[in-house]
Amino acid sequence: MNTSTAPVGINRQNISAGSLPEILQNPFTVAQQQLDEAAAYMKLPASAHEMLRWPLRELHIMIPVRMDDGNTKIFQGFRVQYNDARGPCKGGIRYHPAETIDTVRALAAWMTWKTALVDLPLGGGKGGVVCDPKNLSQGELERLSRAYIRQAGSFLGPEKDVPAPDLYTSAQVMAWMADEYSFMQGNNEFGVITGKPLALGGSAGRNDATARGGIFCIREAAAVLGIGLERATAAIQGYGNAGSHAHRLAEELLGMKVVAVSDSTGCIYNPDGLFHRDVAAHKKKTGSVTGFPCAVPITNENLISLDVAVLIPAALEGVIHKENAHSVRALMIAELANGPLTPEADSILREKGCYVIPDLLCNAGGVTVSYFEMVQNAYGYYWDEDEVHLKLEKKMITAFRNVHEASLHHKVHNRRAAYIVAIERVAEAMKLRGWV
Ligand code: GLU
Repeated sequence: MNTSTAPVGINRQNISAGSLPEILQNPFTVAQQQLDEAAAYMKLPASAHEMLRWPLRELHIMIPVRMDDGNTKIFQGFRVQYNDARGPCKGGIRYHPAETIDTVRALAAWMTWKTALVDLPLGGGKGGVVCDPKNLSQGELERLSRAYIRQAGSFLGPEKDVPAPDLYTSAQVMAWMADEYSFMQGNNEFGVITGKPLALGGSAGRNDATARGGIFCIREAAAVLGIGLERATAAIQGYGNAGSHAHRLAEELLGMKVVAVSDSTGCIYNPDGLFHRDVAAHKKKTGSVTGFPCAVPITNENLISLDVAVLIPAALEGVIHKENAHSVRALMIAELANGPLTPEADSILREKGCYVIPDLLCNAGGVTVSYFEMVQNAYGYYWDEDEVHLKLEKKMITAFRNVHEASLHHKVHNRRAAYIVAIERVAEAMKLRGWV
């Protein structure tokens, strides 16, 4: 196991993606750029700025897994603890073939701002494994998940760093990880991880929390813009946990009409609306949204350019970039994914007058209910779903208003406003602790 503390500098030469085509831009370069711009605007002291440009600690691991065919395959994994000035690091673990240390660093930085923005007593972290979960059997997935914890376990803990689900990691993956960690400790330590199944100390309401938080933001944003959402249209890119629940809740809570959805296999469109119940049943049966009988196939670029009230990117980072941002016609973009807009797309959309609810606000519902899960695990006392929903709504509305007020006060766009609120809080904690 290779635990590297402060000297992340050894990896800095890897982060020189400024010369790459913008649509392939290194996400960590993007994260640093976003921080730099906010820091310059806020006149953040140089020492605080430097501390926040890099992760505090990061772990790189090699994970041997016995495959079903008897061979051993070695997977590469990471855990980045970006900043824990406000509390234990918090953030998901991603399983993705294109995972890199820089993606994980960027996402860990974004978690730091996100937890601060919703005012949770937590820092930011992220983990990842380079693997293609779609080509792993259940047994291989379980052995990989347990092996990740065996390698990274000493880096984690309820008071240190608490992972959660993210791209292609489910409640079942969290259950295997909590179990493996509990064996390592010699007692049940379910508080080491969140997003667990209910039967293992999970929280009511965690499953749809990311989408629900985003839906509350869309509702608040519509009030600011003075637009009605009843029967207004939406398009959703990505049909994993966040995208699928967003479809259901857009119908249930806002009365919206979702006209297009997509997943990694393709996009479907019906101008009269797609019902969540039917699309979800089709996806459950066939494994994808494509081929849904009451819709026509469209391309991803068609979906992004639909004339809808709300466009919800709910999958990967960097999907709206300078090549396709001009074609966006939505009034509002709700960033349920992390980092779906590149910086160039962001400024193109601002010029077009598109209202963007930035990711660190829009998708903060997930980590908010993760925090509720940590609190419930610590107390051994569990809340019902209504209580979780109410507490989540209160947190999301407060965070939305903090961002809205900061944007009016500083006369800046929402993303800059969200960064200002979050960075001020992290910088204050570092100052009080005497770090900077
Ligand atoms: N992976 C989610 C996120 O990016 C949730 C993290 C958590 O619950 O810790 O916000």
